[in-house]
Amino acid sequence: MVLGAGNVQVCTAAMTYGFKIVQEMISGLSAWMDSKGFRTLDEISGRAVPNVTDWQYLNLNHITKARIDQDLCIKCGRCHIACEDTSHQAITAMVDGERHFMVKEEDCVGCNLCVNVCPVENCIDMVTLAPGEKDERTGEIVSADYANWTFHPNNPMSTKIAE
Ligand code: SF4
Ligand code: SF4
Repeated sequence: MVLGAGNVQVCTAAMTYGFKIVQEMISGLSAWMDSKGFRTLDEISGRAVPNVTDWQYLNLNHITKARIDQDLCIKCGRCHIACEDTSHQAITAMVDGERHFMVKEEDCVGCNLCVNVCPVENCIDMVTLAPGEKDERTGEIVSADYANWTFHPNNPMSTKIAE
């Protein structure tokens, strides 16, 4: 809706949790709007549109890694399954014979998927690496410079010179 939709629909959530999930979505949206001071849907509709950009203009030197708060983790395993099967196999399930979920920084690409599937609020954070830090996945030092896909060295079709 913040991208301008006047209505939304869900499928998988209703199949998994039943139609009651719709009531929870309504009360959740209402609570969120109250916390932000919005009174009507018109006030949020389309509000994020100015932030939309083409993916090729995203800063590829902005590197994030998922971090799991072990004190909050209930060991449900959802993050492991999601990352293992559909992302980059970057979350453990067992460590030293114990059920333990931690991010392997050398494999994490910062896709954010695990945050979306974790049922515990704030259990998984995306942490931004500061310029000068080493990205354990690529072995590269994080640059402070903006570099999008049109001129990033990873792009073999790059035609532009860095601006
Ligand atoms: S951010 Fe993506 S790659 Fe990193 S641990 Fe989470 S799901 Fe895996
Ligand atoms: S999804 Fe969240 S709570 Fe479940 S194992 Fe992963 S980090 Fe822990």
